[in-house]
Amino acid sequence: MSSAYIKPGESVAPTPLLASDPGLDNQSTMSQHSDDEQDVDEQWMLGFAEPADAHDLLRHRFRSKVGGRPAWLNPEQLPSSALLRCSVSGQPLHFLLQVYAPIDDAPPSAFHRFIFVFISAAGNKLSQPGAVKAFRCQLPRHNPFYSSDPDPAELPKQVQQPPKSDPWNVAEAEAALREGQSPPGLQGMHLYPEYELVVEPEEASLDDLGAAMQHHSVGNGDEGEALDDVSASVMDSVEAQATPAQQQYARFAAKIASAPEQVIRYRFAREVKPLCPGTTSPPGPGAIPACPHCHSARQFEFQVMPQMIHYLGVDADAATSPDWGTIAVYSCPRSCATSEAYTEEHVWVQPPDS
Ligand SMILES: [Zn+2]
Repeated sequence: MSSAYIKPGESVAPTPLLASDPGLDNQSTMSQHSDDEQDVDEQWMLGFAEPADAHDLLRHRFRSKVGGRPAWLNPEQLPSSALLRCSVSGQPLHFLLQVYAPIDDAPPSAFHRFIFVFISAAGNKLSQPGAVKAFRCQLPRHNPFYSSDPDPAELPKQVQQPPKSDPWNVAEAEAALREGQSPPGLQGMHLYPEYELVVEPEEASLDDLGAAMQHHSVGNGDEGEALDDVSASVMDSVEAQATPAQQQYARFAAKIASAPEQVIRYRFAREVKPLCPGTTSPPGPGAIPACPHCHSARQFEFQVMPQMIHYLGVDADAATSPDWGTIAVYSCPRSCATSEAYTEEHVWVQPPDS
């Protein structure tokens, strides 16, 4: 099997870093910074869940990750406890993941940029509004929490004004790690198993290769053409008998075939749509609320694939276990600065097909 899947340490294709990057050895930056602007917009970046040491996922390492506690970029001004509740069940949200995604044309206030995603404990209600929430947090290069040239070998600087309440007690967990101890457990707050999200560019899919080969054989117009016609008509009749849901799923499966373990698909650009396994259509541009702060039309940034559920260590048969077709995050294209440290962005969830 040819695969885009590359394990950490193999470093076949290290993710290029921002020219002004503080020099971190960072494989989990979602957005790719490259010399070729055209490629940046057209390239999907894929995220894969990989085991990692808890120290490597602390906030001053600026890593993308799944599970564990949130590594708050701004460790002092957290989202309010009201915002961190599920709008459907009223229960505290579970932390799902965070992606480190600084962008090329961001304002100086967004030198560091993360999107955090939280999901409801009512895992069978995730497609209802407010059951999954995404928050954008960003900081300028010169900020109170991190050196402008961070040393990833050190532990994060101690927080000067710890938040009054953090459901995950992150400052306490950091203090324990600083002392070389394991972080204390959490009462009444479920933590998913922790993984780093390692990022690789997507290779051409079997779908794209198939289209290219078809184009090539049509161009040649040789004796292979009759055979091509036969197999094409067989394929057409197979397709005609498949239900729309089966056809949609077949397209989805073909697209991910070269890297089936992908858990994140990232491409922050205009008019991009998520890749969906199910038949519920993603929202059109008019159905995505504009940024309430700068009024720019929000755009697709990334999606969480259903493969992610496999890494959450949940009982797939339990009625309230998390389940989704895809979770799509749409965010402000300008990464505008707001009065909040954590700015809520828009989430659309495709329910799993029954
Ligand atoms: Zn905005």
